[in-house]
Amino acid sequence: MNRSRRYEPLDDASQVVADEPPGAAASAALVQDVAVSVNYEPEDEELAGKGCRPRSSSVRRPDPIIHEKQLKAGHYINAEYESLDYEVVHSDMNIRHQLIVSSYGTVSTWFSRTLACAIIGVLTSFCAVALSLAIDHTAEGKFGVIRSYMLDCTGWRCLAVPFSIWLAFNLAFAVIAFLMVYIEPVSIGSGIPQVKCYLNGVKIPRCVRLRTLVAKLIGVYASVMAGLPVGKEGPMIHSGAVIAAGFSQGKSSSLKFTSPFFKNFREDHEKRDFVACGTAAGVCAAFGSPGGGVMFAIEEGASSLHQDLLWRFLFTSFLAFMVLKEALTYIYGQPGHLLFTGLLDFGSFGQARISSLGYEGLAYGLLAAFLGLLGALFVALNVRISLMRRRYLTSWPLRCSEVLLVSAAMVLMALHIIMVSGDANMYGSSINTYIRRCKMTPDVLAMTDMLLQTPEAGLRSLLHAESGTFPLVPVGMLAVYYYVMTLWTYALPVPSGVFIPSLVTGAAFGRFFAVLLIAYLPEQDWVDPGKFALFGAAAMLGGVVRMAISLTFIIVEAAGVISFGPLLMFVFIISKYVADCFNESLYDAHIELDGIPLLSWRPPPQSEHVSITKVMSAPVRVVHPQMTAGDVYDLLDSCTHNGFPVVDPPKPGQKPSVAVRPPVEPCQSDCSDDEARVSPARAAETAGRGPLPHYGRYRGLLLRSQLVELLKYKVYDGKTVLYNDDYPRYPSHKEVHLSEGERDMRMSLLPYMNPGCMVIMESANLPRVYAVFRALLLRHVPVVNHYNQVIGIVTRKDLARYRAGGPIWRRSVHRVP
Ligand code: ATP
Repeated sequence: MNRSRRYEPLDDASQVVADEPPGAAASAALVQDVAVSVNYEPEDEELAGKGCRPRSSSVRRPDPIIHEKQLKAGHYINAEYESLDYEVVHSDMNIRHQLIVSSYGTVSTWFSRTLACAIIGVLTSFCAVALSLAIDHTAEGKFGVIRSYMLDCTGWRCLAVPFSIWLAFNLAFAVIAFLMVYIEPVSIGSGIPQVKCYLNGVKIPRCVRLRTLVAKLIGVYASVMAGLPVGKEGPMIHSGAVIAAGFSQGKSSSLKFTSPFFKNFREDHEKRDFVACGTAAGVCAAFGSPGGGVMFAIEEGASSLHQDLLWRFLFTSFLAFMVLKEALTYIYGQPGHLLFTGLLDFGSFGQARISSLGYEGLAYGLLAAFLGLLGALFVALNVRISLMRRRYLTSWPLRCSEVLLVSAAMVLMALHIIMVSGDANMYGSSINTYIRRCKMTPDVLAMTDMLLQTPEAGLRSLLHAESGTFPLVPVGMLAVYYYVMTLWTYALPVPSGVFIPSLVTGAAFGRFFAVLLIAYLPEQDWVDPGKFALFGAAAMLGGVVRMAISLTFIIVEAAGVISFGPLLMFVFIISKYVADCFNESLYDAHIELDGIPLLSWRPPPQSEHVSITKVMSAPVRVVHPQMTAGDVYDLLDSCTHNGFPVVDPPKPGQKPSVAVRPPVEPCQSDCSDDEARVSPARAAETAGRGPLPHYGRYRGLLLRSQLVELLKYKVYDGKTVLYNDDYPRYPSHKEVHLSEGERDMRMSLLPYMNPGCMVIMESANLPRVYAVFRALLLRHVPVVNHYNQVIGIVTRKDLARYRAGGPIWRRSVHRVP
């Protein structure tokens, strides 16, 4: 039977040891302080916060419902999100394994990598084609039925029939879309924030599972058919990532299937690179833009780049592009013609050119600034709506009702716009007369047509309809309605993408702007509503998602007009800069809202004064090179930490040094404030209070998963084993059975630890450790003093707590709970 010991701070104190730093005040007086340290009884709450399990309760989870007050105070960090191990473990055992790999092995790894990328590209395209066909055919059927009932209608009452059919269709599909999120909650939304976090080292539970892929594809199909203002492009990017994560591993934990193929890729950093390739393929399949796919993977995803990886992005994207085109042209009966651009076809702009850069550029700039402002407002309002949703819509039936409500509201919106488009003429006349009148009036028919199709097809109408097709009032209404409905829909419990609705909103605003210009400046022939719609669409998307570089590529490639490139870039830059003044992108706002410990590209501004000793955690749970299996088990049982520094044990007969005192706020009387800010450790020394407590001389780092595997494979008394069979789902220590006899068996941990794991000096500040973490995507960094003794440990969550938010004029560093 497993004997699990209670959490005993005494153990820590006995580990708090070690070599006396030469010249340091390791005197007898300190021994008294050890007693204080030994009796130190941490509060339950403090233990839970530090990952240690209190004696009689389990670790507390933060309240999933956060309130606006907390949001204003800077959110919180959700303890449920763990990090991925992107650092390669160069332990003796792994090095020995690498030496066995011959040059033949290197070639076969290269070949397998290329093959895996090819499979990812091809399968992502097949998914895109299947999704596209399913949506197109169902939409044709749905809108065909509604349209025929509308045209046959002969009286006012009869208007109820097509709209009831429309409503019934929408509600039925809305329920399916909702059910997919109910079955697999991580399939909510576009999935881009989750993929972004995954690529940047945060493990999002179930984000890249097969079940998520199925839920996402069925869900997004149902969401589009439910008439919601959503697109399939964002979810397609997530789907590419899931396909990559699954097929690059040659095994599936969900299907309980393991093959000998791609065995070498069963590591977090290898999988991350494939997932980045999958996102590139997803973008490419969604927009028909191989360049956009590569740029998206660089801009939003890839956290560690090298030339080989860039080539893999290009290879996967290109393959996805070619397969998609071939498949679509084959299905539509014109094989080899390469007519179709991707899931999102912007249609051809023919010979369109920018005629007058001065006025035209100025007009696009103003439009971009306005839509950038709307983008920032969108993010701010959507965050508030999401918070209210979390606070009030806590049960599944309520959440489902909201989805149904939005779906029904979309039908009402269409009805209202159609009625307004019909002008006063329609009142009092039969619907048949109205529709026939519509037929005679292209403006009205265009509006009705625009609404009776998928959002992608609607976008094409806005981009390519003749000047004068859409009257001012209906197109303005469409822009405002779509903006409001998209705002309401994003983060609704359905799979959905925000690209298409943002593009449609922006295109409607762009057209509205153009119609206004035509009305006031009729002699200006450069005012082309189609071009305004395109630049408006780009600006709105830039203001919401802020991915200026990849979006420029995506839109230039999707629209097929290379000459628009510089102006599109200009529009993206303006809308992004304007929106960035107020808040961050929609994806980043939701990442923060979920408390995901994602580190931004740069450390928070004005954080130079924050010393590492303020950021780190202490006391540190450490392991020794030689331990008994029972001690290892008890350590794992007493805390939830995932990384343990390996330190030298106290030498026999050596006095425990150390726990001089619990970390103090050093600046009290004789040290200046500035001194204390630079480094509490240094200030404490200056103030004559001696160094911070340490926990032994640093040797390397071991992960919890490694320790559990060692226990599982019973690596006692010199027995060695190369373990990585359980990746990615390592067992818990509770699944390991230790007999009474086994508890006293010795384990030699040195061959398994990572001796090259990064450490940081106590004198470093927050920006320094942040830069190291961000650049190397680390998970744990022990903090050492001048004698290489561990005094603390820093993890991603410790750093992610330091944030800078709010509008640019009030942006400063703050620490979140
Ligand atoms: P991850 O979340 O990346 O899996 P982890 O579980 O080891 O890593 P966190 O959950 O990030 O660690 O850490 C929670 C808190 O515990 C942090 O404040 C961190 O500094 C602290 N911590 C982590 N490892 C140790 C350790 N070995 N001893 C003491 N404190 C630790």
